[in-house]
Formats: sequence, C-alpha cells, structure tokens
Amino acid sequence: MIKYDYIMVRFGELSTKGKNKKDFISTLYLNIKHALKEFSDIKVESRYDHIYIQLNDNDYEPIVSRLQDVSGIQGLSLVHKTENDIEKIKEDSLALIKTETGKTFKVKCKRSNKRFPMISDDIVRAVAPVILRNTDLKVDVHNPDILLQIEVRDEGTYIFTNTFSGAGGYPLGVGGKSMHMLSGGIDSPVAAYLMMKRGVTIECIHFASPPYTQEAVIYKLEDLLHKLNRYQARIRLNIVPFTKIQEAIYDNAPESYCITLMRRMMYRLADKLSKRRKCPVISSGESVGQVASQTLQSINVINEVTNVPVIRPCATMDKVEIINLSKKIDTYEISIRPYEDCCTIFTPKAPKTSPRLDEAKAFEEKFDYESLINDALNNIEVKIIE
Ligand code: ATP
Ligand code: MG
Repeated sequence: MIKYDYIMVRFGELSTKGKNKKDFISTLYLNIKHALKEFSDIKVESRYDHIYIQLNDNDYEPIVSRLQDVSGIQGLSLVHKTENDIEKIKEDSLALIKTETGKTFKVKCKRSNKRFPMISDDIVRAVAPVILRNTDLKVDVHNPDILLQIEVRDEGTYIFTNTFSGAGGYPLGVGGKSMHMLSGGIDSPVAAYLMMKRGVTIECIHFASPPYTQEAVIYKLEDLLHKLNRYQARIRLNIVPFTKIQEAIYDNAPESYCITLMRRMMYRLADKLSKRRKCPVISSGESVGQVASQTLQSINVINEVTNVPVIRPCATMDKVEIINLSKKIDTYEISIRPYEDCCTIFTPKAPKTSPRLDEAKAFEEKFDYESLINDALNNIEVKIIE
C-alpha cells in the first residue's frame, strides 16, 4: 500500500514578494502550528514555496479539516514522497494512481530541482506509458478523472492525486488589527470572520445597556467568540457601558432620531477606543439597506462622526448569503437565540430612513455627550476569549 507522507500546503494570494512574502509564510507557519497543536506527533516544515505537514501515521482527515479553516491556505494536497529517481517515480506514481477510481488520467509535472537530469515533459513521457501499460486508464489531457501531479524538488519528489481547497485569503495577523463592532446578531460575527479571512486580527467592542439588556447577551457574545476562536485563538472583548448615553438620547431627541444618534455615539466610542488600542480601522456588520439605520443616507450621517476608515464586509451581501456564511462558521444557531439588545429595546415605531445631519447635530447639542462618552470609556470591562 502506498502511503501519504505529507500534506502539502499551497499558499493563497501570494502576489507579494520579498519581505512581505517572508512575513506571509512565517505567519502562516505559526498559525498552522497553532491550529494543529492538538495533534501531538506532527511536524510542520516551512520551505520556500510550500509548507509541509509530516503525517507520521496520523489520520489525515481531521488534519485536513482543521487546516481548511486556516486563512492564507489556497489548497492542500495529500502527497507521497519518493526519491529523485525516475524508476522510483514511475513505480510510486503507478501505485498511487491505482488507489484512485476513474477512467481517464493526466500526468502533470513540475521540476524546481534543475539538477534532476530530465525535464518535466520527459518525466511525463516516462510515467504515462507505465500507467497505460499497467492499468485500464486512458489519457485525457483536457478533463481527466484523475490528475497525477509530480513535483521534483531538491529534497525529494512529491507525488499526489488528492487536492482539497483551502480558505484562501491571507494568514491571520499579516493585515493588522481592526476594532470590530460585535452585536450578537447574525451579521457582525460573519463580518468578523470575513475580516479575519483577509488576515486582519480583530478586537471587539460591544455596547451594553444594563438593565435593559441582560447578562445573557454577554454569554451569547462569549459563545460566538468561542466559535471565532477557530480562526483567531485569542480575542479581546471590550464591553462598553452604554445605558447613560442611551437614556440621554431618549431624553433629548424625538423617537425617530434615536437610532441615528445612538449609532453616532457608538461610532464615536469605537473611534476613540480604536485609537487607544492601536487599531487603524473599525469594522461592523452593516449591510446596505437592511434596516433604517443602514440606508446610504443613514450610513452617511452616522459615519460623519469619525475619520477612521470603517470596513463593512457584509455591505453588499444579501441576508441569505450572510445566513449561509453564518451557518458555515457555525455561529447561526447562537445568533438566533432570542435576546434583547440595546437596539431592539428602544426600537422606535418609525425610525428615520433619511436622517438629516443638521438635525442630528441639533439634538446632540442639547446634552453633554462628550463627558458621557469619556465616562463610558473609563468603565470598559474587558474579557479575553480564548
Ligand atoms: P447584527 O446582525 O450584526 O446584529 P443587525 O442587522 O442587527 O446586525 P444593526 O443592529 O443595525 O444591524 O447593527 C449594525 C451593526 O452595528 C452590527 O452588525 C454591529 O457591527 C454594530 N452594532 C449594533 N449593535 C451593537 C452593539 N450593541 N454593540 C456593538 N456593535 C453593535
Ligand atoms: Mg443587531
């Protein structure tokens, strides 16, 4: 029986070169080691253009499934390693292809080891006849059932037929850090995942309004973040006391403007905290047109309080698409748990879909929100979810 020796990891969008490429690979290497720490008998080797995971008799399935969540990985192949010797390559290629089912095949070869005496085409021409002679398989170069790939490298030759897709994107950590607004709904955990997929580490900010909102919301956030720990092992959650600000808004503005003002306050807080925590951007789960506060006009008036770029990964996604992603990352069932959040409690009957900036500002002038904001920032509760 032919044996799989390694999982070969192919990198994602590696269009960058030089130092960026080095950072990409070394970050991905550490992320992979971390992701696989429960598998004790495994060795991760980083080489110039691939990372290899030495299987050492481990079952590959749980490892592949774990690796498929690691961002920055484009594809994974189960590889058999053999010597840089054409007779060995022929023999093992035949043994490997015999384990596959299908009617047609194609052999593809890549030779980065230029000291190997045959060029890629010659290797293909040497291997294919052996398969033709010893199996019922036929060649199909356009749409083969089985693609047998051979890569001749300095340290040996890798042969593989089995490839799995990876999560794509960038390794977590290469993209810096975002202050992510986490609400406990369906959208914001999905948005967090999409940020992570681009290599961005997140730190969360949540606005809590006890006693209007309950402690159960915090448990819910912890459960959500535990799911996201699969992609980022350690997530900081900043819980900002929001009750006084919210009450002041309701005392000073008509109901129809409350959501707009509330969200302007949220962004003011996120702006300040992002600077304090050295996050160059803010991110949120907003989606264009989804609710009154997410019309373009609302987004404009709300966004006016900050110069920090706000990234909204769900901006143009349909609710169904967002829900499908939340099921994929397993946050959906937690997100739909009934709960009261600061938005649902004070939901006005007719929120403004096209709020005016001058009006919003006029209502805000009626109370000293700056000191309320500073107060809230000085009373943040921090939880580390890992
Ligand atoms: P979600 O499903 O993420 O709760 P939503 O459709 O309910 O979103 P909104 O309540 O308008 O929409 O919130 C839009 C975005 O604002 C959220 O995705 C989140 O990023 C942020 N947000 C809303 N409420 C809070 C909160 N209490 N704490 C932190 N961020 C919040
Ligand atoms: Mg919400």
